[in-house]
Amino acid sequence: MEIYKGTAIFPGIAIGKILFYQKNEYEIRQYLISNVKSELESFDQARLRVQEILYDLHEKNSSLSPSQASVFLDQAKLLDPGSFQRAVENMILSEKVNAAYAVMVTRDGLANTFRNLEEPVIVERLKNIREISDRLIDVLGGVSPKIDLGDEPVILVSDTLSPTEMMEMGKEKLLGVVTQSGSAVSHSAILAKTMGIPTLIGMEISGEWDGQEAILDGYTGTLYIHPDAELHKEYDIRRRADAKEQEELLKLRNAPDVTADGKKIGLFANTGNLDDLNSVLFYGAQGIGLLRSEFQYLGRENYPRENELFLAYKKIAETMGERPAIIRTADLGADKQAAYLDIPDEVNPIMGNRGIRLCLDRKKMFKAQLRAIYRASAYGNLALMYPMITSEEEMDEIEEIIREVKSGLKVKNIPFRNIRTGIMIETPAAVMISRELADRVDFLSLGTNDLTQYTLAMDRENPLLCEKYNDHHPAILRMIKMVIDAGHDAGCQVYICGELAADTALTDTFLRMGVDGLSVVPACILPVRKAIREANLQKGR
Ligand code: PEP
Ligand code: MG
Repeated sequence: MEIYKGTAIFPGIAIGKILFYQKNEYEIRQYLISNVKSELESFDQARLRVQEILYDLHEKNSSLSPSQASVFLDQAKLLDPGSFQRAVENMILSEKVNAAYAVMVTRDGLANTFRNLEEPVIVERLKNIREISDRLIDVLGGVSPKIDLGDEPVILVSDTLSPTEMMEMGKEKLLGVVTQSGSAVSHSAILAKTMGIPTLIGMEISGEWDGQEAILDGYTGTLYIHPDAELHKEYDIRRRADAKEQEELLKLRNAPDVTADGKKIGLFANTGNLDDLNSVLFYGAQGIGLLRSEFQYLGRENYPRENELFLAYKKIAETMGERPAIIRTADLGADKQAAYLDIPDEVNPIMGNRGIRLCLDRKKMFKAQLRAIYRASAYGNLALMYPMITSEEEMDEIEEIIREVKSGLKVKNIPFRNIRTGIMIETPAAVMISRELADRVDFLSLGTNDLTQYTLAMDRENPLLCEKYNDHHPAILRMIKMVIDAGHDAGCQVYICGELAADTALTDTFLRMGVDGLSVVPACILPVRKAIREANLQKGR
């Protein structure tokens, strides 16, 4: 038996076989297109873009090694109008498939036809075709991570996992997750928690574990490979005890969120997609305190259309009924990327063009989302929340857009409600002007994940800082108190929706500070409810 240690970020016990996930495998989704002309145009643009990249690479490298740099020129020439281009275009035209897929099939077809030829010129040409095809596919955004979990449930082991990869996995087959990098407040970790999957991070992993029997202990952060029979027995018992404890907690599903001395508290769920709605209702959350709407923009080839967003928000509004559902507008950028978004590389994406900044730069995308939310507002109790706010000027711009959206809907006689709006307080700037910001909205919601990283100047994803990343830092706690007071002064409700809201060691502290609501991943609703019901705010006054 081998024993490895990591950091546990979601509790629970998983017993099963390991699947070691190797990056760099990818698949290209095939889909039918409705507009052949625009697909041909996309292909043409991608072709020119790749040529541009290759000419650029040639220029940058030719002074270092002229002969090697000439490869880039050869590759760029293959992209001139000619047989390769015609083959791809013919496939798009005749089979009405997406360009990335057509490139892949053309590439593989050529490789197959000439695979037995050994002339160096042909071998070189095929290599170049493979490389330009990969570049084209990359630019066309047709690549998607491939994690095939197989038929049996597994413990997934990987170096890193992106939020998109997490989203694309079938959770029913996932017993547990182990990663080498990542942190407790990375979006992939938050997704694992949302799925309620025992997860360890910060572990030295090995490809040799693939297919081995293992036990993952999400309480102590331990992974046992080839566990002996004795340990197996012990963990079978512990897993049953776990289930029993869970059963006890489940008795609180319909219990009110009231402290022992009678103060009512809002307890809401954080969600990422429509699949989470069942768990929100199952655990008896009072509503949705944070819908991370950006996940609808990930793992796909192009922007979601307004109507697609509308249907999703309508479903949420109808499913939640009178329970509030706060939709945060897309917080894209930084670790939440998709090729079609075409966000230019940034030296420091965490401090880059992300969240509300990106939305205000891409008003067409932002307006489509706002219209979808307002249209869906007629079907339930939706609210709107803006991420990463740092200034009142941003709010001026947002308010102007909202006015436009509403008057557009009025002109077309489309029903909507004047829903509640809120601001996420997740930058130190927003904390310092929280009193002014509170005048503009109905509620503030503290995003302690980002607030911690920006206050401590520590990247929330950096595993090397795990030990130093102190989200109980007095600066953070003081900021939270400051925002609660500023919000209340302006008549606003103040919530916490960062991961800290689920930290039951702080529930009593937050309630004493006067917070109105906590929003946590669905699987943490019941432990936090228990902590709220045990708190007595009169005691020790
Ligand atoms: C936060 O920053 O605390 C938050 C809730 O937003 P996200 O984790 O999605 O950045
Ligand atoms: Mg945030």
